[in-house]
Amino acid sequence: MSTDSGVDDGAAIVDRLVAASVVRLDESTDDLALTETFRTDLRRRIDQVGDDPTRYLALLLEADPDALSVDAGGDGVSVRDGSGASTRTVGEWPSKAALVADVAAFVALGEWLPAFEELDGAERDELVARLRAFLETCPICDGALIEESDAEEATVPAISCDDCGAALF
Ligand SMILES: [Zn+2]
Repeated sequence: MSTDSGVDDGAAIVDRLVAASVVRLDESTDDLALTETFRTDLRRRIDQVGDDPTRYLALLLEADPDALSVDAGGDGVSVRDGSGASTRTVGEWPSKAALVADVAAFVALGEWLPAFEELDGAERDELVARLRAFLETCPICDGALIEESDAEEATVPAISCDDCGAALF
């Protein structure tokens, strides 16, 4: 038997999302898309998290929200935890929109995906990033997301909001 059952395998990750009814195959386009119910739930989470993503991130990380600082620079957003002896970067995102999307996805997947809590950090990050790729509208302004055509060398296409310009990837 040859099995390649690593959960970091892209197909296995998508299988998990399909099995949990997060993602389904759209018969008309033959493409994967978020299910209506998950999309609605994620939208609700995005609205909930959007005002103060750092507070929700702190809850997920079991960190002290007052110790988290957000640095928004030209290259995106990074969140640091200053509670320890030395300040530690807990995550980096291309924009606040991407941060909001990931925190919302994290909360939603925790409810939708059995055993999400038991996955290790890298697997959860991978699932959350996969989910971000299924977004159709901007988490901040609801604008349409467009693919940059000049990103030939990138393995993941650069995706940004047509309205506010926030980079999602
Ligand atoms: Zn936008």
